[in-house]
This record gives sequence, C-alpha cells and structure tokens, in this order.
Amino acid sequence: MTQTELESAVGEVLIDEPTLQTRIAELGDEISSDYAGKDLLLVGVLKGAVFFMADLMRSLTVPCEVDFMAISSYGAETDSSGVVRILKDLDIPLQGRDVLVVEDIVDSGLTLSYLMRNLRARDPASLEVCALLTKPDRREIEVPVKYVGFEIPNRFVIGYGLDYAERYRNLRYVGVLNEEIVP
Ligand code: 5GP
Repeated sequence: MTQTELESAVGEVLIDEPTLQTRIAELGDEISSDYAGKDLLLVGVLKGAVFFMADLMRSLTVPCEVDFMAISSYGAETDSSGVVRILKDLDIPLQGRDVLVVEDIVDSGLTLSYLMRNLRARDPASLEVCALLTKPDRREIEVPVKYVGFEIPNRFVIGYGLDYAERYRNLRYVGVLNEEIVP
C-alpha cells in the first residue's frame, strides 16, 4: 500500500499529529502528579491502545509498569455488543495495585464497562481509566473515564492505533474514515 492509498482512506483529518502529542504530554503531566508515590500499573487493551500507550507511558515521570489484555467483542463490524471474551489475560496480578486502564476510544462504553467489572473483581487498590478519545453522544452505559484526551463527534475514526478491518492503525493522526472505501 502506498502512502497515497493509505491516506485515501481518510475523509478528513480530525486530530493532527502535533495536537495529539501536545494533549498526550498534558495527560502525562496530570497522571504523573496524581500518581506520585503510588504503585502505577498501566493496563492496555490490544490492539488499538498500543500506540497511545507507548506515547503516554513515555510522557510519565513516575515509575510504572505495563501489561496488556486482548479481548474480542461480538457484534457487527463497527458496533460493539458489550459481550466480551478475554483472548489474552494479564500476566501481572492486580491485587493492591494502582491500575490505570489505557483505552483508545470509548464509544457505547459497553466494552469498558465489562472490562472494569472484571478488573475490579481482582481487588486493585485503585482503578481508573484514561481514554484518548470518547464519543459522549454514543454512550449507552455510564463508565467513569477520569482522563480524556479528546471528545469527538459520532463519526467512525481511524489512525493512531484505530483500525478499519485491521488497517490504517499506522496513520500518525486521527482521521474520519472515508465512507467511499467501505465495500
Ligand atoms: P464500545 O464498547 O465503547 O462501544 O466500543 C469500544 C471499541 O469499539 C473500541 O475499543 C474500538 O475497538 C471500537 N470502536 C468504537 N468506535 C470506533 C471508531 O470510531 N473507530 C474505530 N476504529 N474503532 C472504534
């Protein structure tokens, strides 16, 4: 795929690279000050959160560890059902840890709500969420997201970790999917 082919999937750039990086540095400062002296464990959800996680973690000035989970949600291609299956579980026990779940995007909130219930049952000292993007208009269930990068409108976005049919994660910015490429 050429760069032009890659970019032809983007209808419009929603959040450009400098804007993303500036906001991630701000989140890093806020999280570093909130977790000073704590035992921070970042939990990422594969695969979309990997890119955000890598930048966020490097902007933290407090000691921290990272672990990942893989989940699959049943449902149509661009809609979540909230029924979640764990494909790869965490390696690190959560008991007594200050856990921060790092998410790429919260849409209906169903996936995150399931995940929070599952993680809370493991008895962490604290459990919070940092999401790069949220779509407040789409929320179907209340999930407290303590750190939010950007609130975005109800559009299907790709890039910076977010895929359409597993592609376009490697765009450096967040763009709206060009509907013309959808078969
Ligand atoms: P929720 O359960 O909150 O409805 O869905 C969360 C998951 O749906 C996200 O982790 C992501 O995988 C996917 N998702 C929701 N909205 C978008 C979007 O606009 N673009 C992409 N690529 N994935 C999305």
